[in-house]
Amino acid sequence: MIACLERFVPENDIESKAAVEASIMCKTLDLQGSIDRTASADKDFGGLYSRRPLAVIRPSGADDVARVIKAASLSSTLTVAARGNGHSINGQAMVDRGLLINMRPTENNHFKVEKINGSTYVDVSGGALWEDVLKRCIEEYGLAPRSWTDYLSLTVGGTLSNAGVSGQAFRYGPQTANVAELEVVTGRGEVVVCSEKKNCELFFSVLGGLGQFGIITRARVLVQSAPDMVRWIRVVYTEFDEFTRDAEFLVTRQGDGESFDYVEGFVFVNSDDPVNGWPSVPLDPDHGFDPAHLPRNADSVLYCLELGLHYNNSDHPSTVDTVVKRLLGWLRFIKKLKFQVDLSYVDFLLRVKRAEEHAKANGIWDSPHPWLNMFVAKSDIAEFNEAIFKKILKDGVGGPMLIYPLLRSKWDNRTSVMTPKEDVFYLVALLRFSPTRSNGAEVEKMVSQNRQIVDYCVQNGFDYKLYLPHYQTEEQWKEHFGGKWERFVERKACYDPMAILAPGQKIFERIRNISCNP
Ligand code: FAD
Repeated sequence: MIACLERFVPENDIESKAAVEASIMCKTLDLQGSIDRTASADKDFGGLYSRRPLAVIRPSGADDVARVIKAASLSSTLTVAARGNGHSINGQAMVDRGLLINMRPTENNHFKVEKINGSTYVDVSGGALWEDVLKRCIEEYGLAPRSWTDYLSLTVGGTLSNAGVSGQAFRYGPQTANVAELEVVTGRGEVVVCSEKKNCELFFSVLGGLGQFGIITRARVLVQSAPDMVRWIRVVYTEFDEFTRDAEFLVTRQGDGESFDYVEGFVFVNSDDPVNGWPSVPLDPDHGFDPAHLPRNADSVLYCLELGLHYNNSDHPSTVDTVVKRLLGWLRFIKKLKFQVDLSYVDFLLRVKRAEEHAKANGIWDSPHPWLNMFVAKSDIAEFNEAIFKKILKDGVGGPMLIYPLLRSKWDNRTSVMTPKEDVFYLVALLRFSPTRSNGAEVEKMVSQNRQIVDYCVQNGFDYKLYLPHYQTEEQWKEHFGGKWERFVERKACYDPMAILAPGQKIFERIRNISCNP
């Protein structure tokens, strides 16, 4: 009855009705896990938004997740957001007066290594952190996934809902290209196992699907033998065209021993600024950056290619030196501005964790992060450098400004991930850290600078896509998905017809269930 009156009641009455529905639902749900109805407002890593869920559910597994979604679908307005580790920037994992499912308690539900048709995989929980997957794979089996993110305190379900990109993606593709099977709870509340061969439409919808089609409760991830060590190298360029030529040269050499195992890069400011400038480059505190090696005509910003070569303890040091010398010999960096350290593979992959500890100690980990991530086509990247890095961002962003090439051929077009059309495109990540005592106006300035950058790309017809996209209107989402929008909408209608899931992405409005009577 209440639902039938919906059109005639003011918005805040609908809100209180949602609270009543959630309350009834929470009392009647028979879960193995727990429900917290006193949860305070949720925040994410971005720190720009705050939303208050009506209840936070800590599921014990897929069955609990299914029960919650089914119950929400019988209510008139309730929505459900899966929260991985809440490392989104713009509230994507939040829900306003709906149900938040915290996936972290499911982290240990799955961990099994198996060999299938000659390849080795590990089955892991959607709520597991990649850093824990790494540690268990290495400690128990000497194995490791092939494709990573730079930072590993992110959940398997969270990164697979986006793409999962780092310096290995040029060779193996994003994390979404390294998964063979998923267990998903759809927006209909059905638990479905899917893969390229079985329920393939759901499988490809969910990969990069921004949480719109189902909640990932298990993923089967391709693994390989883990190396013992990594030689981590940084080399400096003053000329953007030489930097991109070398980066593209390395990522397109796919043969064994033909390139490094990890290729990334970043832009830094040509100054002694401790965060944005020369001091951000050296890898070893004993090896400083000597600006005397820079040519006099060096511009306002400089470029650093970041490389990693895997090796084993059994390899002779001179063999590693020889390979590195041969690979670096092809590159045109400033020879005296080369930095390197040797560290274990695990320490290499956990490098950002150390930066996190440092940032936490300085208080900047918990302040707002108006980050901007995008993919920009190769043909537009030189102009992006001229107009954006050299002008708009010439003083830096208070954190890393990543830029490295990726190959479209390594991305599966059947997934929901959107990339530029060109074969080679660049990941550009402006990882802004705001000072501890920064006020709202300073944060707003950073947000508006992001807008200015995106506007520049639009106005100049760049072939680009936002990564970890964030839009406010359906028109903008249509633009983002371009020719794939219709397919995205059809997939939504098929797997989450009431638009219950991932409301924080602001793509679809919940379809109100006018027949329900709580
Ligand atoms: P959340 O932020 O909790 O969720 C993200 C979205 O996925 C939400 O819509 C949520 O509802 C949905 N979701 C969460 N869990 C599931 C699930 N199990 N099933 C279905 N949907 C789900 N990204 C890269 O690609 N490469 C990087 O190198 C990289 N580095 C980063 C470094 C830092 C310090 C941070 C903060 C982020 C970084 N990211 C990187 C971005 C990161 O991949 C995304 O923010 C990711 O969404 C965060 O994962 P999470 O587990 O915290 O997900």
